[in-house]
Amino acid sequence: MRNSFYKKSDLPEMNRSVVIKILQQQEICSRADIARQTGLTQAAISKIIATLMDRGIVVEKGSMKGNANRRSIGLMLNSGSHQVIGVKFAREMFEVGVFDISGKIYTQKKTRYSLNDDPNAVLSDLLEQMHEMLREYKNTLAIGLAVPGPYFREEGHIAVLTKLPNWQKVNFIQKFKDEFVPPIFFEQDANAGALAEWWFGNHAQPLHTLAYFLVGEGVGSGIIERGNLLLGAQGVASEIGHISIDVAGPRCECGNFGCLEQYCSSLALLQRAQQCIPHCLPQEPLKACDACNYIFDAARAGNQKAREIVREIAEYIGYGCVTLINAYNPDVIVIGDSVSQGGDLLLPTIQEVVEQRVVSELHSRVQIKISDLKMDSTLYGAAAIATDKVLQLPSLFLTNGSKQARKNP
Ligand SMILES: [Zn+2]
Repeated sequence: MRNSFYKKSDLPEMNRSVVIKILQQQEICSRADIARQTGLTQAAISKIIATLMDRGIVVEKGSMKGNANRRSIGLMLNSGSHQVIGVKFAREMFEVGVFDISGKIYTQKKTRYSLNDDPNAVLSDLLEQMHEMLREYKNTLAIGLAVPGPYFREEGHIAVLTKLPNWQKVNFIQKFKDEFVPPIFFEQDANAGALAEWWFGNHAQPLHTLAYFLVGEGVGSGIIERGNLLLGAQGVASEIGHISIDVAGPRCECGNFGCLEQYCSSLALLQRAQQCIPHCLPQEPLKACDACNYIFDAARAGNQKAREIVREIAEYIGYGCVTLINAYNPDVIVIGDSVSQGGDLLLPTIQEVVEQRVVSELHSRVQIKISDLKMDSTLYGAAAIATDKVLQLPSLFLTNGSKQARKNP
């Protein structure tokens, strides 16, 4: 089969996850519907469904109208009985949420911390909140934790965290891995956002390659090709925020000069606004992610200077899109995080830049859109990290007749 990187022995597992994904997206469908959409035989689908029902992950739900007016049995994901915990760890805040595997949120809690706080104290608080949620949601299968990139995935630490050098010494894997019974998985925030778009995003046609372009306090991207994240040798691939767009530009903390992140992050946007339109910002100290809305509101209200700043930022985001298209040839680029809140103001300029700078045969085939996920794409993404593991390899998490999570695979 062409559409995967799976070993031949993983094929049954892959087919199971494809079936689960269809059920997740369509809520209710019949065995015949799934056979038609996957190209697998009815017999193969019946076998997969029997296994998934045995494990309690799929249930039958009444009858539904099928082809030629024949009735067939409706199938649904038994999503409510399986939870995952998603944790977004970001600069100055963390957020913990409980989701089911269809992406529905049950509860969430946001905590702010200060740049001067001791990282160990912040993480102890986070651990306590996670334990609390696990005590309440006993059927939790897995935990996903999203951290700012670049993140050394195998080693467990963040490589560069602008203005937060203390946190670069923290090893997330060591800190968390033996704390919980359900396995915990870590990804950098842009990869998490990409997984959220892949599993929970609203896309008209099946995607080959999805690029998630995170434009917030940091800038990064996550690439998913045929359902698999592009990671690189250390898990630090697709760090588009540290691609130089001006080789003679200011030095970045990563060592490079004129990195894209220095021009279009929410920190850059806030800095420009403080220089040019301070009267549009409130007096009290402001976090960059909150400042974006004041600047976009001023631009929408017709403030000429605000419009210029927003256009400038949109051009830089456009340059990022040009690089993403040339590097990864995606079907879709989804722009997310705090700067994307200015979507309607940004998109026309981004499109203009892409049209001017990308081979026409390429740019006409890539859709550029703003994330339409209803909530924070990184928290959603943290849940998607865990959901992805559960749905890609269901047998590791669900034993016959039991919903107990096994140890970390
Ligand atoms: Zn850099």
